[in-house]
Amino acid sequence: MILLLMGPPGAGKGTQSKRLEEAYGLVQLSTGDMLRAAVASGSDLGNKAKEIMARGDLVPDDLIIDMIAARIEQADCAKGFILDGFPRTVPQAEALAAMLADKGLNLDHVIELAVDDDAMVKRITGRYTCAKCGKGYHDEFEKPAKDGVCDKCGATEFTRRADDNEGTVRNRLDAYHAQTAPILAYYKDQGLLHDVDGMADIDAVTAQLKGVIGQA
Ligand code: AMP
Repeated sequence: MILLLMGPPGAGKGTQSKRLEEAYGLVQLSTGDMLRAAVASGSDLGNKAKEIMARGDLVPDDLIIDMIAARIEQADCAKGFILDGFPRTVPQAEALAAMLADKGLNLDHVIELAVDDDAMVKRITGRYTCAKCGKGYHDEFEKPAKDGVCDKCGATEFTRRADDNEGTVRNRLDAYHAQTAPILAYYKDQGLLHDVDGMADIDAVTAQLKGVIGQA
């Protein structure tokens, strides 16, 4: 099964992808995570992407398309995957269609997490993760039970994404509306698009997603 989660930054694509990974035995492919790993490793791609990401702009299509094309060739993708953060432009969507067609595959569901922009700024600027296990937290909505200690693994170091500040978030939201939202029409025309209320609480969103996707 191949799923695509759409929605602006902060809509919950990453959180929900992780839950769907477990529920359906799929692998999450987050182009944002791949790029952050490339930046951290100091690779050519990372060096090209670093400043662009810090501004909240989109990394050029050719770099992204090559990166994802290489990723879906890896063995773990054979069981199916969840696309999180890709495609983000119409050319990326077209490249994805060609890549899948080459392999005799197709997208099963495209699901949009519908949310309110102002709420996204609050969600994103407050979020942080455990540096050791990656569990997500929020300054206001999800604090650890013991201040400064991860509930899951007990670590005391936390990290925030460099692009999770208000100025960059506004730019990321603008990029979504200008460059990514047009893809929704592309998928709607193909009868693939479903809408889920991304403002509901996390469990309710997961339940809605499972309702769309069906049985594992
Ligand atoms: P994300 O973690 O999905 O919010 O992505 C973080 C940043 O990585 C974005 O603001 C972009 O700069 C870059 N990025 C991630 N995925 C893509 C993509 N499919 N196309 C272009 N840029 C991307």
